Amino acid sequence: MSGSPHTLRAIAAGAAATALLSLGAAVPTAHAAPDPAHRATAATDCALPGRTGWTDEGHTTDYTTQFQRPLGTRHVLMLFVDFPDARAAGSTSDYYRQLAPAADWLKRDSYGRTTLDITPLNRWIRMPQDSTSYGFQRGITFEQHEAYVRQAVAAADPYADFSRFDMVYLVPSKSAAAISFSPTYLFDPTTAGVTADGTRIKWAVTFGQDMWHWGFKVADHETGHTFGLPDLYAFTGTDYHRFVGGWDLMGDIAGAAPQHLGWERWKFGWIDDRQVACLPTSGSRTVRLRAVESPGGTKVAVIRTGETSAYVAESRRAVGADDHACSTGVLIYQVDTSVQTGYGPVRIVNGNPDATPPSGCRALDMAAFHAGQSFTDPATGVRIDVDDGSTTSQDEISITKR
Ligand SMILES: [Zn+2]
Repeated sequence: MSGSPHTLRAIAAGAAATALLSLGAAVPTAHAAPDPAHRATAATDCALPGRTGWTDEGHTTDYTTQFQRPLGTRHVLMLFVDFPDARAAGSTSDYYRQLAPAADWLKRDSYGRTTLDITPLNRWIRMPQDSTSYGFQRGITFEQHEAYVRQAVAAADPYADFSRFDMVYLVPSKSAAAISFSPTYLFDPTTAGVTADGTRIKWAVTFGQDMWHWGFKVADHETGHTFGLPDLYAFTGTDYHRFVGGWDLMGDIAGAAPQHLGWERWKFGWIDDRQVACLPTSGSRTVRLRAVESPGGTKVAVIRTGETSAYVAESRRAVGADDHACSTGVLIYQVDTSVQTGYGPVRIVNGNPDATPPSGCRALDMAAFHAGQSFTDPATGVRIDVDDGSTTSQDEISITKR
């Protein structure tokens, strides 16, 4: 799909995207006075349940068996594989260096809460079959993918203790052109699975030659799926980036502002409940949002609009991994946790649809709202006003729900 990596099962799960609410347009601001009577509300009233049973934006992700919890140190074994028809030449170090920066990237993105401890097994593991035999060129099925992982683990088993690791990265020789893209293998309790050293291998990223195009962030994107996140780019249509543009690397690995959305940070436990301002029913409140790129402060304002839907506002700045952000200010988006991966579980509202994007930016990359702008959605009674309290690291907004 346009060279974009994706999870395999996700594609098959593509039921019609549920009807998404139409998004209201940006309108000139008329400040709503903060409601002094508003009471503090528990953030958990805005935590939406997942409804897909797979990777989605819900807060009910199964972190005990199905996915790995994105906190603390995750131990990754990196295996280098070559094939009878695509033998490796030279050392594995170039391959390791191409992907290793993924660990530092995730550590910064997570405010230091998640560490990838990547251990390279510095030798070439010969696979038993030709690179062209695994089905990558035809999109590869789950069964073919599991067999690929199983064969690699079996071939590496004499040299590694798999019981010491949470997941596996499989890196193919450059000459294996048939291993073209980088799907993620996710635990499925209904399959025979892959076992070594008494341990079920639940998660693996099998890199393809696109790792030389995307760079290390392909590892962060794919590892995000093992943390339960869906793809935010579109599986259908022609504009694959119509939902979130270059915001969040689950949308575009090469996007201008690839740091994870505040909503996903909350799901992950990178931000705490006390950093979430929740409006679960009608009312209004004023919120000072500290930019998500740096730790501390209130990170997201959530206005619940239904059992599985909400509007979210967060502050973004062109710092850290977002230093090429095309617009900064208040990012507003709609989340629906019943929507399948690849069908728009997150949809960003463009606050500047008439802006002319500079080189390297898409229209949706210009989406951030500025002081004086407002967003309204008549269908849900939601209104978000960006107030005049912006500083280099925070924005002030007023949120209202009729
Ligand atoms: Zn993906």
